[in-house]
Amino acid sequence: MASRPSWRDRAFVVRTYDFAEADRVVVLLTREHGLVRGVAKGVRKAKSRFGSRLQPFVDINVQVYPGRDHSKLATITGADTVAYFGHQIVDDFDRYTAACAVMETAEKLAFEEADPVLFDLVAAALERLRAGEHPTMVLDAFILQATEHAGWGLSLFNCANCAAPGPHKAFNPAVGGAVCTNCRPPGSFDIDPEALHTMWLLQNGHAAQAEHVGQVHRVTAAHLQFNLESGVTSLRIMEQA
Ligand SMILES: [Zn+2]
Repeated sequence: MASRPSWRDRAFVVRTYDFAEADRVVVLLTREHGLVRGVAKGVRKAKSRFGSRLQPFVDINVQVYPGRDHSKLATITGADTVAYFGHQIVDDFDRYTAACAVMETAEKLAFEEADPVLFDLVAAALERLRAGEHPTMVLDAFILQATEHAGWGLSLFNCANCAAPGPHKAFNPAVGGAVCTNCRPPGSFDIDPEALHTMWLLQNGHAAQAEHVGQVHRVTAAHLQFNLESGVTSLRIMEQA
């Protein structure tokens, strides 16, 4: 019986489930193969060095044998550490919470296909958390860049509805960004124009001062929730258990 060739790829562990006696099902965000579900055999035995590498917040290089068809789990047979972000993240509650939100967002934005941009955004966010940057700013920068990459970029200067030039003082997640006084649909948030400017800097990958952090996070989270709940979700969240 022909089997599909194995492959190696960079990966982050998104989540794990215990399976059988000593195995673990691991959901990986890979760089060139998208989201992959695989079984790692024997990794729950106490001395498994392989198992010790299949942890969150570790950039790993995995060896994977695909399942015989799409309904079968892959088998993960090896993992080498590329970069370890763990201690500095896990030992700090705010960094840990932000890192978990980065991974959960990435999982929801990923498909079963190559997305090196998304993978690299995750790696960059974890590196910035490890380095001690403001956790909420790092998370919001990740969300704004990753959702823009997914096709949901925000208009943060011009009105997202009528294109009137800013600066504006309101944000609407359904319309997709800043909204002018004339448009301002129901469900809009009041926001300081400087907070919109901070979001523009973050969405475009620029450094930004940690100012208006609460406002920026409130509307960035609203933007993410709106897009993940608006019908695209079913395409983007894998239902397979
Ligand atoms: Zn307008």
